Amino acid sequence: MGKSSKDKRDAYYRLAKEQGWRARSAFKLLQLDEEFDLFSNVTRVVDLCAAPGSWSQVLSRVLIKGEKFGRSAWQDRDARVRQQMLGVFPEAFTPEQREAIERETSSSSPTSTSASSTSETAAGAATTTTTTNPDVKIVSIDLQPISPLAGITTLRADITHPATVPLLLSALDPSYDASSSAENTQAAQHPVDLVLSDGAPDVTGLHDLDIYVQSQLLFAALNLALCVLRPGGKFVAKIFRGRNVDVLYAQLKIFFEKVIVAKPRSSRASSVEAFIVCLNFRPPAGFRASLEEPLGVGRRLDRMVRERDVASTRTASHGGGITEVEVYDEMVESDKDNGARWIAPFIACGDLSAFDSDASYQLPEDYVSLDPVQPPIAPPYKRALELRAGLSKPSR
Ligand code: SAM
Repeated sequence: MGKSSKDKRDAYYRLAKEQGWRARSAFKLLQLDEEFDLFSNVTRVVDLCAAPGSWSQVLSRVLIKGEKFGRSAWQDRDARVRQQMLGVFPEAFTPEQREAIERETSSSSPTSTSASSTSETAAGAATTTTTTNPDVKIVSIDLQPISPLAGITTLRADITHPATVPLLLSALDPSYDASSSAENTQAAQHPVDLVLSDGAPDVTGLHDLDIYVQSQLLFAALNLALCVLRPGGKFVAKIFRGRNVDVLYAQLKIFFEKVIVAKPRSSRASSVEAFIVCLNFRPPAGFRASLEEPLGVGRRLDRMVRERDVASTRTASHGGGITEVEVYDEMVESDKDNGARWIAPFIACGDLSAFDSDASYQLPEDYVSLDPVQPPIAPPYKRALELRAGLSKPSR
C-alpha cells in the first residue's frame, strides 16, 4: 500500500504531515483539550510513552510558544468578535456588557510581541501569541529515542521499571536526591500539573494479552503520576476498553474527583482505544506512592476501593491509614449485586465537522503525498529492514 492510499484512507495521517505533527496522535490530544481544557493552569507536564513526540509537540506549541488551539482559540475568537461588535454597534450593548468586554480585552492582550499567524486545524483554529513562559517544564519519556524538541527534556526509559521514577524526579527537580530513600518518591518541591500517557505495547493480535499488557502500562503510568502530581492535578491515559475495564475506572476514582472515558474523533471508532481523563487529583489521606509496592501488584487497590465504599456509606471522610496497594481485575459478583460497580461517564469529543478517522477521502488529482515529519530514529523493525536489504548478515 502506497503512502497516498494511506493519505486517502486516513485523513489524520495526511493532516499530521501537512501541519507538521510527528504523528496523527497529536489530534487526539488536541481534541481532548478541546473538550476538557486540559492545559489551563498547567505549566509542569510529564508526557509518558511520548515517541515520536507529537503530544510533546502539542505541549511545546501550547505551553512554550503560547499557541492556542481548540477551546482557547475559539474563546479568543469569540472575544475578538465581541470587541469588534462593540466598536461598530456600541449602542447594542448595556453598560455592564460594555464593561465586561473591555475587561476581557485588557486581560486577553498578549504580554509580549504581536499576535501573528492564524491557521485552521482539524482541532480548531490555532492562534499564535509568541509568549514564552519560563516556568514551563516538560519531561517526555519513551523506550524509543525521541528526536529533540526545544525546551523539552527527553528521557529514554521503560515506564514499568522502578528505576524510572527517580530518573523522572531528578529530571523534574535537579535538587532531588535519588540515593536518599526509596520511600522518597514524592516530588513535593515542584509537583506536576498534568501527566499524560499514550502508551501502547506492540500489539500481538491476541486480544486478551494486548489488553493485559496495556493495563500494565497504565498502572505504571498511574504510579508515576501518583509520585509527581500536585493535589488538583490531572492524569490522562490511553486505555483499551476490555472486559472489567469498569473496575479500573472505580480504582482511578480513589485518587481523582472526576474520571471520564473519552473517545476523540481522531481515534478510530472501530478501535477499542479510548482515553481516561482524570481530573482533580485528591489522594486518600495517608496515601504515599511507593516504589516498593507499586500499583498493579497485589491487592492493595482492591482494598482501597472497598475502604472507600465503606467510608462513603458511613458518610465519613476519605479513609485514612492506607498501607498497601493492589490490583484486582475482577469484581466479585456480590459487589455487583450491591451496586458497588461504578460506571464512568463516556464522552465522544472533537468537533463533529472534523474528519472521520474511519472514512476514506477522495484526494485531488494533483495531490502530492508528503513524507512523515519525523520518521522513527531507532524503530524496533530497523534490524529486520537492514537484514532484508542485505546490509548486514544475521549474527550466529
Ligand atoms: N504520544 C506519542 C506521540 O504523540 O507521538 C505516540 C505514542 S505511541 C502510540 C506509543 C509509545 O509507547 C511507543 O513509542 C512505545 O515505544 C511506547 N512504550 C510502550 N511501552 C513502553 C514502556 N514500557 N516504557 C516507555 N514507553 C513505552
